Amino acid sequence: KAKEGGRGQALAFAEEMEREVRERRELEADLREAFESDGLTIEFQPIVEARSGRVVSSEVLVRWQHPTRGEVVPDVFIPIAEHAGLILPMGMWVLKKACKVAAQWPDLETVAVNLSAVQFMDPNLVETVSDVLMETGFPGERLVLEITESVFLKDIGSASEKLDGLRDMGIKIALDDFGTGYSSLLYLRNYNFDKIKIDKSFVDEIGEQSEGLAIIAAIIALAHNLGLEVTAEGVERQFQVDALRTLGCDTLQGYYFGRPDPNPMLIGEIRNEDWNDRAPSTAPEKRS
Ligand code: C2E
Ligand code: MG
Ligand code: MG
Ligand code: MG
Repeated sequence: KAKEGGRGQALAFAEEMEREVRERRELEADLREAFESDGLTIEFQPIVEARSGRVVSSEVLVRWQHPTRGEVVPDVFIPIAEHAGLILPMGMWVLKKACKVAAQWPDLETVAVNLSAVQFMDPNLVETVSDVLMETGFPGERLVLEITESVFLKDIGSASEKLDGLRDMGIKIALDDFGTGYSSLLYLRNYNFDKIKIDKSFVDEIGEQSEGLAIIAAIIALAHNLGLEVTAEGVERQFQVDALRTLGCDTLQGYYFGRPDPNPMLIGEIRNEDWNDRAPSTAPEKRS
């Protein structure tokens, strides 16, 4: 009896595997089709200066509306794009589009674009990014590229050179999802970044009674000591805004200020009225 049960389980497992492989192959084909027929879009999410509430930057996020499945999130389709060899053209399409839009929008100091590990590993990365800047006329100084620690796991040799090559064009490098990897501090020591983005999981720890601040406070202090700018991701609540401003966090991003939206102009309508009334009296001066 137990044996039969085991066999039944093994069969169910094999069927499940087969189903997953089939589904993945299907998604891969659909993604290719979507990319080739202009089926992908981008959205913009505001990043505000903590002191003033002013929108200073905007993160570009790629979107895929599947014809039958509805929205497929990037955490699902970016790995598929990597696997299918689609991520390089797709990534450059996102970058080009972002630069074109942001070029017409001078009020925005910078625009931030994500790079996956596979994109970062591309030996032609620096050259390709340079070509996009030339073609769109967008100044490197206004571009932020966001990378995660995963790029250092796969590309040990040339990571430093690549970062320097990008920074030579004036591009700023942000270390995204900071604190979620295994060796965040090691990477801060070994590579040149311009800013870090504190992962949402730490922001989620901030409670209404200001509990859960210890780690965030330490990260902000550490980053500032290293001369890095700090953005907090996933800010959803007023008390998180207040706590992060008090701790001197430079910029804030999250649903509290605005969800990603296809219309970049909406970002001008962020709720920043009576911002100063809400300023905590202990808000530190901005670093110079
Ligand atoms: P990320 O770069 O860390 O982007 C932040 C994610 O958090 C986005 O999810 C954003 O919509 C979401 N988010 C922002 N504020 C809040 C908030 O207050 N609450 C909650 N619950 N979520 C918030 P999204 O758009 O699903 O993207 C997920 C990840 O996919 C991104 O994480 C990034 O790693 C990757 N990704 C997105 N677009 C691109 C792209 O164009 N290229 C590459 N290579 N990766 C991308
Ligand atoms: Mg990002
Ligand atoms: Mg992130
Ligand atoms: Mg992420």
